[in-house]
Amino acid sequence: MVFVLSSDNQPLDGCHAARARKLLSAGRAVVWKRYPFTIILKNRTAAESVTHEHRLKIDPGSKTTGLAIVQEGTDRVVWAGELTHRGQAIRDALLARRAIRRGRRQRHTRYRKPRFLNRRRREGWLAPSLAHRVQTTLTWVGRLRKACPIAAVSVELVRFDTQRMQNAEISGVEYQQGTLKGYEIREYLLAKWNRKCAYCQKGDLPLQVEHLIPKVRGGSNRVSNLTLACGDCNQKKGDQTASEFGYPHLMEQAKAPLKDVAGVMTTRWALWRALSATSLPLETGTGGRTKWNRTRLGLQKSHWADAACVGQSTPDDLDAAVGSVLLIASKGHGSRQMCGTDKHGFPMRHKRRQKRYFGFRTGDLVKAVIPGGKYAGTHVGRVTVRSRPMFKMGGFDVHPKYLKLVQRADGYAYGERKV
Ligand SMILES: [Zn+2]
Repeated sequence: MVFVLSSDNQPLDGCHAARARKLLSAGRAVVWKRYPFTIILKNRTAAESVTHEHRLKIDPGSKTTGLAIVQEGTDRVVWAGELTHRGQAIRDALLARRAIRRGRRQRHTRYRKPRFLNRRRREGWLAPSLAHRVQTTLTWVGRLRKACPIAAVSVELVRFDTQRMQNAEISGVEYQQGTLKGYEIREYLLAKWNRKCAYCQKGDLPLQVEHLIPKVRGGSNRVSNLTLACGDCNQKKGDQTASEFGYPHLMEQAKAPLKDVAGVMTTRWALWRALSATSLPLETGTGGRTKWNRTRLGLQKSHWADAACVGQSTPDDLDAAVGSVLLIASKGHGSRQMCGTDKHGFPMRHKRRQKRYFGFRTGDLVKAVIPGGKYAGTHVGRVTVRSRPMFKMGGFDVHPKYLKLVQRADGYAYGERKV
């Protein structure tokens, strides 16, 4: 699907790529933006058009956030995207800067007053690498709202329904595989047992819900009788109880309900607060429900598919044939560093006043048509400019005379994945 704007710059329902091609070649529309691909109609205003309501669905992740737009009424996923964050890059940059600063303080150069106890962190402060996640997600909520008539937002807020699970521990809700409650309990157990096998403490492998007192020995399906085990430990344990298997302390641990898990999800809560501040109605979902929806609808695991399955509003007949997913990678907007240093912190170069050379700046998306040589052919991608006319693009150098601008630098790199 292609985003469509009316001639007075209001978002309309998207159209199929083939239809967009026809409109463009007939001269009835022009390209407004390449990423996400948006066209603007020349002679149709928003008042003359009928639009559906759309729901933007978000699955916030630590490295990648899934985005999906579902058209309400037709229950189709009309657009899908995956936003890759650069939290690690921000962290690395701050650590490098700190190392240089510390080194400078140690050196006996000019007197530098120590800065001590003169900082205050406001309420709700997030580390820069985490704040960036919230900010880039909001950037894309804003961009998508400009391109598509979005009337509501769904976001995955917590892994499981905390309150209901705490009640489950007390009131003895039973685990049943495959049900919504079963998925919520699984997510709850993952948090309670730290995503590790309770016996061998191995993580990063498929875990099975396991009964401390086996069912054949009269063990119940209650949450307080459940733990997580890897396949090997589950096999080895067989029909022994956890105490007989040599882990009596697990019985105690299983009885204690999990307390305060909401605290670790600060970034998601920050995103939730920011989204609540927009005028859009906001729905929240749990990770358990997302997984249950995705399994029920038979979708492969991916960030965008998880996003499409967030929340109670997910239709039973969701049509998730999107064709392709836009891959959006945060790249930042360059550095503010005035003096580049080598790895020991010694100055090597100074930043130039000029950012644009030969009409291009670093981060611009360009199309290079190179007539001959080793890299002959057409390439599209981000360019890194230099003061001399030999720019870098991917793994090779290119002269600006071969370049054509596709889209100005906006802090992101783009790709596409067919699904
Ligand atoms: Zn194990």
